[in-house]
Amino acid sequence: MKKGFSLLLTLVLVMSMSISVFAEAQSKPNGPWIQPNQTVKLESWASPEDLEKALFQINDRAREGRMELEVVGHSATYEYPIYAVKFGEADTDNPKIFIQTQIHGDEQAGTEASLDLIQQLAMSNHPDIREILDNVTVWFIPMLNPDGAVVFETPQGQSKQRQNLQTWDPEEFGLAEDTPAPWYYRPDSVSREMGFDVNRDFHPALEFDISTDYTAGLTPGRSTAPGFYVTPEARASRAVFEELQPDLFIDHHHRYSNVVSEDDDRLNTLQVIAQVVRQDNVVEHNGVEYRVDDESLALSKQVNSLVYQELQKGNSPFGAVSRYPDVNLPGTALGSYSMNGAAIMLYETRGQQHPGGHTGQKANGQYIKQSYIGLYETLRGFATGDVYEIDPAFYDEEIPYGSPRIGRPNN
Ligand SMILES: [Zn+2]
Repeated sequence: MKKGFSLLLTLVLVMSMSISVFAEAQSKPNGPWIQPNQTVKLESWASPEDLEKALFQINDRAREGRMELEVVGHSATYEYPIYAVKFGEADTDNPKIFIQTQIHGDEQAGTEASLDLIQQLAMSNHPDIREILDNVTVWFIPMLNPDGAVVFETPQGQSKQRQNLQTWDPEEFGLAEDTPAPWYYRPDSVSREMGFDVNRDFHPALEFDISTDYTAGLTPGRSTAPGFYVTPEARASRAVFEELQPDLFIDHHHRYSNVVSEDDDRLNTLQVIAQVVRQDNVVEHNGVEYRVDDESLALSKQVNSLVYQELQKGNSPFGAVSRYPDVNLPGTALGSYSMNGAAIMLYETRGQQHPGGHTGQKANGQYIKQSYIGLYETLRGFATGDVYEIDPAFYDEEIPYGSPRIGRPNN
């Protein structure tokens, strides 16, 4: 590893050094649980400042002409730059992929995996990487919600949070000051879990503007209806989506622990899903109807199947993969973009970054690797065309489904 990557190396070392702390916890292969008296050092995950430094370092050392680093917006409260990292042109016949991470500030593994992948794409001269760069356009937003990624103290220990840190200010949008907040807003609270759930703030009509499109009844809404682009984070993502018009959009999250299925009690390392809006959920706006079409849904199933199959290979420690429960969420980034013709894939990695919900740094390292493999093999699948050879029915017939959430074994 080159000298310039001391930051990333430090992160890796911090994670490695923490292994002994967790060595006595139960158990392989899915990683240990944090014991109640253990302190989790969240600083081992990249902060917004760490991410920026790493992106600058990679950009400085990128091979000529490969990578573009762009600011595509700023976070609502701390005004952190939101970065897009671009490999390849939007105006191309190659397949186009948009990878987004950390729309929920406490869900970090995807950002770390993306940094590793960005570094490879920027610097490696391996023929497989060159083949990806020649045949696929791939753009990233690593850490869409940096405000939520800032560590704060709670009575239970350090935490990051799902929401951004924005306060509802209807007058910002030219609305009356008593206009109710969108339903996905949480006002200030002692735990600081305030702000907007950015991942309910999307609308399939990408031109949607609450200042002109607001009508009584838009808010409060419900989860089967779209959001309103009131957060600068959602608007930054939308700008990248509109510029790229990707064939595939990948969003990376974490969730709590589940077992694989009713017949398989291994703990999930990952859940995936190819569809987050039902095809009979049609959103109409300004005379245009938005829905999930058959063609992009088939490609979504091929991509999800590819990742599942790659994680089953050999002696992978990541085989405990299943399908995420059925949902109907057009206000998510995945939902709105899937109603605009993009195939989608959702990663829900085990290991939520809340006090009481941690899985430990050793496990986190495994989850980063798991996501890296998934993302890398997806790019390979498009570069070689192999993804198109997969039967979409594999998704429905072969990926385990239906696993109840389970509690921690200790309490
Ligand atoms: Zn999430």
